[in-house]
Amino acid sequence: MTKAETDALALQAREEHELRETLRKRKRDLRRGRGIRRPEYTIPAPGSDAAVADGCSCPVLDNAHGQGLPWWNGVTAYWLTVGCPVHNPKGAA
Ligand SMILES: [Zn+2]
Repeated sequence: MTKAETDALALQAREEHELRETLRKRKRDLRRGRGIRRPEYTIPAPGSDAAVADGCSCPVLDNAHGQGLPWWNGVTAYWLTVGCPVHNPKGAA
């Protein structure tokens, strides 16, 4: 094996190690509720003006007009109405 090949392998190993570390940290952060400041809604947040305009029937005041509620560890929580056509169309609890 040439030195170039050895270096390439070492670099690859280091990159894989870093990737694994990043993923592990990310997983841990997710478990602790970090990194999620609010659910990743691709649709307007429950109770926001935009959601209400789309027919959202979730509580407006309880969701602070779409800002949500500070839960624990920086997680933002929302109240959903069962059967809300925007956020819970199937009526699943
Ligand atoms: Zn809704």
